[in-house]
Amino acid sequence: MVEAGRAVKMYRPGTFREAVEIRAEYNTIPLAGGTDLMVKYRKPAGVLPFFTRPVEFIGHLNELKYTEKGIEVLRIGAGVNLSEILKNPDIPGSLKEAASQIAAPGIRNMATIGGNICNASPAGDMLPALYCLDASLLLAGKNGLREVLLSDFITGPGKNSLRGDELLKEIYFPLRHYDKIYYRKVGTRMANSLSRLSFTGLVKWNGKIISDIRIALGAVAPVVVRSREIEKEIIGRSSAEVSGITDEILLSYKKLLHPINDQRASAVYREQTALKILKEFLEHRIRL
Ligand SMILES: Cc1cc2nc3c(=O)[nH]c(=O)nc-3n(C[C@H](O)[C@H](O)[C@H](O)COP(=O)(O)OP(=O)(O)OC[C@H]3O[C@@H](n4cnc5c(N)ncnc54)[C@H](O)[C@@H]3O)c2cc1C
Repeated sequence: MVEAGRAVKMYRPGTFREAVEIRAEYNTIPLAGGTDLMVKYRKPAGVLPFFTRPVEFIGHLNELKYTEKGIEVLRIGAGVNLSEILKNPDIPGSLKEAASQIAAPGIRNMATIGGNICNASPAGDMLPALYCLDASLLLAGKNGLREVLLSDFITGPGKNSLRGDELLKEIYFPLRHYDKIYYRKVGTRMANSLSRLSFTGLVKWNGKIISDIRIALGAVAPVVVRSREIEKEIIGRSSAEVSGITDEILLSYKKLLHPINDQRASAVYREQTALKILKEFLEHRIRL
């Protein structure tokens, strides 16, 4: 244990197992890359960040920095950073597209996929792609491991269902091929800006028929918007048929959008832009 500054106790576990034990015993705040936490707890220049609970550094744990490609499933350790995601040939293009638009290289070298998930921000840019991939999480607690769907894990803006003794160990999802990937992030500038909104669309074709489609929108509701019901309405159709029902589909999604006004964009802008990107995707970008 290391005393860091006046106000906070900092733990640096030697192993992941020890990390879980420390978390359970001291109700610590896990710190991986710190790129969200250090902003959240920042104080005016020259004043140390004031953490309300002991902090546990987990960013050095090699047990969290792995990817494992099986025949049907890809597993990514929670401590893999976004630069590593961009370099790894096993990671699907949809996740890489999202990672490539986050911050700038210096932040991406620190920022972990696990941190992006646990931060549970509606503007978390890895989330729409992970929702499209049907990602699940492996959580480790004092009584063992627990699996949960990412879409069940995130319960609201900045809220997740992580228990007080748990750490996120791994993200995993089925490996599937998609013929088209469409990713759009709308930010205030090209780099180092949080999303006003983001969009991931994945399409698989069987001849001229859509055999699978996934659509997820970020920063337009308290949690990522994805609807398997609407996707099922699109599956089994040709692109011409989809064009014929685009207005109907847009209306269905409009009902799911509940954007907020904030310093980055108005709710009206978010809704209109999201529907515009969705229309562009359905009418022009799904085609082979
Ligand atoms: C300049 C700048 C630009 C940014 N731009 C973007 C952007 O464009 N898009 C975007 O999505 N984000 C952006 N971010 C936010 C941030 O970089 C990402 O969310 C990043 O992925 C967070 O990862 P981290 O490892 O730094 O998390 P940390 O800050 O270490 O942690 C974030 C949260 O997750 C928890 N946590 C972390 N790891 C675990 C674990 N294994 N188990 C349990 N809890 C855990 C922490 O306790 C904390 O609550 C930006 C940040 C900065 C400073």
